[in-house]
Amino acid sequence: MLTSNRRDFKISMKELERYRSIVDDFSAFCEVSKRPLPLAIWRNSLRVSAGEFAAWFGEWNPQRMDGPRAVSWADLVYTSPSADSIPFVAAYLSGLLHIQEAISMLPVILLDPQPSDRVLDLCAAPGNKTASIAVRMNAGGTVVANDLSRNRLGVVRTTIDRLGLTNVVLTSHDASSYPKAAGMYDRILVDVPCSCEGTSRKHWDVLSRTTDSFRERLINRQKLILERALKLCKPGGRVVYSTCTYAPEECEGVVASVLESTIIGRSFSILRLEVPELMSARGLARWNGVQYPSEMSRAFRVWPHQNDTGGFFAVALHRDEKGSELPVEPLDTAPEIRVASLIPEELEHFRIPPDSLNGYRVHRVSSKYDSIEATSVVAPPQKMCFSRGVRAINRKGKPNRLSTAGALLLGHLAHANRYSVSCPELNAYLSRRRIEARAGEMDHAGVVLVSHCGKTMGRGVIRRFDHSNLVLESHFPRVWAGTQVASRIENIHDIRAVSTPSF
Ligand code: SAM
Repeated sequence: MLTSNRRDFKISMKELERYRSIVDDFSAFCEVSKRPLPLAIWRNSLRVSAGEFAAWFGEWNPQRMDGPRAVSWADLVYTSPSADSIPFVAAYLSGLLHIQEAISMLPVILLDPQPSDRVLDLCAAPGNKTASIAVRMNAGGTVVANDLSRNRLGVVRTTIDRLGLTNVVLTSHDASSYPKAAGMYDRILVDVPCSCEGTSRKHWDVLSRTTDSFRERLINRQKLILERALKLCKPGGRVVYSTCTYAPEECEGVVASVLESTIIGRSFSILRLEVPELMSARGLARWNGVQYPSEMSRAFRVWPHQNDTGGFFAVALHRDEKGSELPVEPLDTAPEIRVASLIPEELEHFRIPPDSLNGYRVHRVSSKYDSIEATSVVAPPQKMCFSRGVRAINRKGKPNRLSTAGALLLGHLAHANRYSVSCPELNAYLSRRRIEARAGEMDHAGVVLVSHCGKTMGRGVIRRFDHSNLVLESHFPRVWAGTQVASRIENIHDIRAVSTPSF
C-alpha cells in the first residue's frame, strides 16, 4: 500500500483546536484527521475511455472488485484500494492515470478551462493541477505552467512526458512579478504556497511546523501573487485562488485584502459556483475579529470529514468586461518544423499516417530530444520558456526515433509492428526481462511498439535468439525498470521525494 499506511502516522490534536469554532462537527473532523488519506487517482481521458479503464483492471482481476471506484463529485477521479499491483503500476507508467489527492481537483473544477483557452498556472509544481487542466482542455489551447523552482519544474516535465500533454509550456519566474510580456490569460490558477495544514493526513507533521512569523511571510507572498494574477487576467476572464490550508488568514483574509485594497481588485467579483455532490462549508464571514465581505460565503471550504479527503479552500473570481488586453509580444518566428519531416523512417516502419500528425509541431529542446507541441499553443516569448510540449523524439542515434514518451503519445496511430503482450509478459517487459516471442505473429524480427489491452507501453525489439527462438527485448527505460517500479510509484505519491527521470 501507499504512504497512507505509514507506521509513524500521528497527529497533534492541539493544533486542530485553533479551528474548533469554525468546524461544523469538530469531533468528526478530529477523528478523520487521525486516519490516513485514501489513495485517489484520475483517468487520463486523452489515452483511455472509462470502459477501457474498467476493462484494463478487469482483465487482471475479473473476480475481485478491487479496481478504481469513481468519485461522484469529480469527473475522471477515482479512489483506488491499492497502488502496488502490476495493473496499477503499468497504467501509471503508460500514462493512463495520474495520482492526485481528490480534493485537489476542486480548484480545477472551479477554473473550468475550455479547450481553446489560454490558461496560466502560476505556482504549478509538482504539476498535478497543471496536468489535470491540460487533460480537461483535451490537449487543446495553451497551458502555461510556472514555478519559481526549476528543480520542481523537472518533476512537472516528467509528468507531461508520461501523460502526453502537448499543450503545456513551462516557465520559471517569481509569480509575484510574472512578466506581462507573456500576454494575458482567459483563466488563471493561483494555487499558492501555504502552511499546508489540510495535508496533515498525508504529512502528519505540517500542523506543528507553522509559526506566526512563517505565516506572516506566506501571507505577504500570497497577496503579491494573487494581485499579479488579477493583472494578468483578460477582461471577462476567471482567476481561481486556492490553498490546502485551514488558516483563514491565508484564505479569506488574502482574497479580501487584495479585492478591497488594490485598484485591480475592484474589477473582480466572487463567482457563485456549485459542485454537485461535493460536501463543503461556506467561506467565513469573520475570523479573529476581522470581518470579510459577505460575498466571501461563495468561497469553498472543505473539511476532511465531509468527503474523506484532505482540507482545502478555493474561490473563483470573475473579471468584469471593462479594461483592455495587453498584447502578446511577437512569438517565436522560427519556421515551423513538421513532425513528419523528422522521423520519416519511424512513420514508415510503424505505418503512422503523416497526416495524423498535422495538429503537432516540433521544438528543438536539447541536443538529445525534440519535443512535440500542439499547434494550438500560444507560448510566451521563447526566451521565457523552460520547456515546451512532450520530449517525444530521441536524436541520440541515427535515424531519429520516437522516445518512450513519443511512443506513448503516438503509438495508437501505428498500423504495423505493434506487439501485444499478456498480463504476465507485461510484468516482465516493465522489469526489462526478455520474453519469448510468439513465432509467426511478426513478419520479421525488428523494432516494435509493445502494447497491452490496445494501449502502447513503450518500445522493444524482436530478435532471433540461438538461431531458433524469437525473443522480445524490452526497451522500457532502465530508470523505471525492475524492482524500482513499485518503489518509484510509492515515491510519486509522496511527491516531495520524486526525482526527475527522463524518458
Ligand atoms: N499547483 C501545484 C500542484 O497542484 O501540483 C502545487 C503548488 S504548491 C502548493 C506551491 C508551489 O509554489 C511550489 O511548487 C513552490 O515552488 C511554488 N512557489 C513558491 N513561491 C513562488 C513564487 N514566488 N513564484 C512562483 N512559484 C512559487
